[in-house]
Amino acid sequence: MTDPILKVTDLVRHFGAVKAVDGISFELKAGQSVGLIGANGAGKTTTMRLLTTLDLPDRGEIIFAGIDATAWPEKVRSRIGWMPDGFDPIDHTTVHDYIDYFARAYGLSGSKRVEEVNRVLGFCGISDLSERFINKLSKGQTQRLSLARTLIGDPDFLVMDEPAAGLDPQARIEFRQLVQELRRKGKTLLISSHILSELAEMCDTMIFMDGGHIIRQGTQQELGEHQQQGVLYSIRTVGDSAELLAWLAESPLWTGAIAQADGTVQVTCTAQGNEAQALALRALSAEHLVLEASRRRRNLEETFVNILAGENHE
Ligand code: ATP
Repeated sequence: MTDPILKVTDLVRHFGAVKAVDGISFELKAGQSVGLIGANGAGKTTTMRLLTTLDLPDRGEIIFAGIDATAWPEKVRSRIGWMPDGFDPIDHTTVHDYIDYFARAYGLSGSKRVEEVNRVLGFCGISDLSERFINKLSKGQTQRLSLARTLIGDPDFLVMDEPAAGLDPQARIEFRQLVQELRRKGKTLLISSHILSELAEMCDTMIFMDGGHIIRQGTQQELGEHQQQGVLYSIRTVGDSAELLAWLAESPLWTGAIAQADGTVQVTCTAQGNEAQALALRALSAEHLVLEASRRRRNLEETFVNILAGENHE
């Protein structure tokens, strides 16, 4: 098995009494795309700032590509791209000059710099905007510019804090396509977002944070299975769902029934095995006129809400 590109061990960062990051450990493999999920104040940005060497931990270790990033931040910085959640445009600066400035800061000169500026602007689809002042860009264009800056020097590991926040649906789709392209190029990605359905499409693995801790991590499937503890059904009956809800509440094999806005009831059947599941469904349809009963997997939003609600907390 290949060594992880990033290994974080027992990382701690407190601000006075606030335990922003309180002993987190995880590993990322090269090429992995990881979503960092947590409510406001969970510690996501602090974690990202530590990983990108913008802040120092009180305790713990960050090993990036075999290098101790806390002890030798200058050795890893050029390989890590940081896209913060805000962007402060400078007045009277064009897109080209802005990117060119950062390319200079990376020590690039001559034709190498010209090529790099063209490469990142081209990749982000903003070459046409080269002469536009950056404080005149739309939000979507600004995010592309921010990504272009992040990609200077072709870093292996990209850390993005809420990259799709504030984008309109079309700009979000376009931004997601850029992220998919980066995945295809083999970049390792750590992306935080509150738009969980979007993370589900951009990331293969999720890390859930709460109160400075990692409360759960794994692939979407692993998280869904761990969380589910039974099979989730969407059930539609003839008539009022209140009657069905009342029956389900009395039945030991059914749990967590919730009426949905579309008139269906979502409920978990805890019967073990297919045969027991089928018998539970038969008992249900003997009592109610069932129009539809379909199995479904919890989506990321539901998993997140359930994890935060403390269901199955470890
Ligand atoms: P959000 O989704 O709102 O951005 P987050 O998960 O990124 O939240 P952090 O920004 O990491 O959370 O903040 C974690 C906690 O640490 C919060 O309580 C925050 O107020 C606190 N905190 C973060 N940075 C500092 C700082 N420089 N000084 C004092 N407290 C801080």
